Amino acid sequence: MSDLKELAKKLESLDDQIISCMKCGLCQPVCPIFNSTMQEADVARGKLALIDNLSKHILTDADELAEKLERCLMCGSCQAACPPGVEIMDIFMKAREVVFGYVGLSIIKKFIFRQMLAKTWLFNTAMRIGAPLSRLVFWKTNKDHGTYSAPLLSPIIGKRHVRPLPLTPLHVAVGAMDTKAGSSGIKVAFFSGCVGDKMYVDMSKACLKVLDHHGVGVYMPKSFPCCGLPAIVSGDADGVLKQLKPSLDLLMQGEFDYLITPCGSCTATLKEFWPKYAPRLSEEYGAYAKELEHKVMDINAFLINVLKIESKPTKAGAVKVTYHDSCHLRKSLGVISEPRKVIGLSGEYEFIEMANAEKCCGSGGSFSLAYHDISLDIGMRKRQDVTESGAEIVAMGCPACMIQIEDVLSQKGDKVRVKHTIELYAESLDK
Ligand code: SF4
Ligand code: SF4
Repeated sequence: MSDLKELAKKLESLDDQIISCMKCGLCQPVCPIFNSTMQEADVARGKLALIDNLSKHILTDADELAEKLERCLMCGSCQAACPPGVEIMDIFMKAREVVFGYVGLSIIKKFIFRQMLAKTWLFNTAMRIGAPLSRLVFWKTNKDHGTYSAPLLSPIIGKRHVRPLPLTPLHVAVGAMDTKAGSSGIKVAFFSGCVGDKMYVDMSKACLKVLDHHGVGVYMPKSFPCCGLPAIVSGDADGVLKQLKPSLDLLMQGEFDYLITPCGSCTATLKEFWPKYAPRLSEEYGAYAKELEHKVMDINAFLINVLKIESKPTKAGAVKVTYHDSCHLRKSLGVISEPRKVIGLSGEYEFIEMANAEKCCGSGGSFSLAYHDISLDIGMRKRQDVTESGAEIVAMGCPACMIQIEDVLSQKGDKVRVKHTIELYAESLDK
């Protein structure tokens, strides 16, 4: 009981932020989970009330609060729609750390966050062994998308269709890079993200090709740890710090003007959360993360706003391409027009806006595993918008969204291909 009092006291520190909620309910219609479950506890207003009730001893079930907090995509749609600007994501992150600290993390999560995702040699070795072994349980299901399914793993991944893990990840195929600034006079650090290193390797190679084409020098250590987002959303500060320190150490060894990523989720984490966590390592790390905050940039924004690449007129017979907004890119970072402009750069593609492009696809990292049915339901709504657009390709700026949207299109046998915006631009450079 005394522990519960301690928990309530820690949650009380969020009072000043929660009090700005005027309970208007405008976060309800924009919440992708509410649109599937119709439960108030799934909406920001409901979650804020639960946190408040536990801090005031009206509720005493911390496990229930933990479960409700976990049922969230952290998509930020509620915050973007909130009239008084309640810092919902910040409150959720802080509450998760306090509540999951109280109810405890599973041994598996602790191992993944504090060991596997923090130690690149361990993660890389596990993937090197896992990639060929995965071919024993995954088999090709949809040749249009090149996706596989694994009925034997259905208790974990459901009926998901996913791309196989490549046998040669980016850190093996390309390795470390440290090239000088070319004609642009600019040098960037490139942070591919875990999915960019271990799954969508062609996407990462496309980014490097585009940077090289525009005379941009690249600093890329052989392998970065995870950006820390999975540990952050699980409230595991210890895991976050164990991943963050080696990343900052690697970056401190390089010289660069911008820190570029092709992943909306990584970009938002590096920019918004690293400066919040790094001071817990030391003052020096805190100051460095703060300095980096101004250098972190999504690769689409870099091409349009820094390199200022001009678009060419759309050619006759151009391929029709639509675009899905990653929640982190649009709602956290305000990167909205730039990826759309990247699609139009080469003149090879005709951009078509689809309905509800800004709505979440239901990916949410581990959310899609823990709440597969809700994630799939949200994904299927996105699939309908994609197919009704009439586009041949759906482009996006986040590999996590690529996994989710490719899955739902593949499951339904749709021919619409999934691409990163930078892949499209890189392919056009060969034409
Ligand atoms: S939109 Fe904002 S103010 Fe309105 S109920 Fe939701 S969290 Fe509260
Ligand atoms: S972050 Fe997204 S899923 Fe979570 S409560 Fe807000 S709108 Fe709903």
